[in-house]
Amino acid sequence: MRAKAVDRNQAEIVGHLRGAGATVQDLSGVGGGCPDLLVGFRGRNFLLEIKTPDPESKLNALQNEWHMAWTGHAAVVRTPEEALQEILAVRVIGRAKRNEDKIADWADRLLEDRPHRKLTKSWLRRLVEGIRNGDWR
Ligand SMILES: [Mg+2]
Repeated sequence: MRAKAVDRNQAEIVGHLRGAGATVQDLSGVGGGCPDLLVGFRGRNFLLEIKTPDPESKLNALQNEWHMAWTGHAAVVRTPEEALQEILAVRVIGRAKRNEDKIADWADRLLEDRPHRKLTKSWLRRLVEGIRNGDWR
């Protein structure tokens, strides 16, 4: 399998993640649809697929298959801000989490509405808003 080309914004994003205190392992040579980066931050692991901000920069078929099948954390990020929000947002959820089953049910209902949606920033934002608003209590 051909190794993926490294996204041109990868070095910048890695620099910002490390600047925030994260540890970063480059996985962009793994292939098979695996995301570009393994990121450690405050006791958690994150898998980040880097895409450039260009509208035509999307997951290819192999990456899409990988993301649909993976049951752990994985996200697509296009800017340093998105990468930082991704690792910080999960921390917010973790801190606010009081009833995992209810959060999971609530997230399931969201996912049922749009079964092919990915874990996007807006999805996370809505999840965090829901937790803060007490929608799941
Ligand atoms: Mg990439």
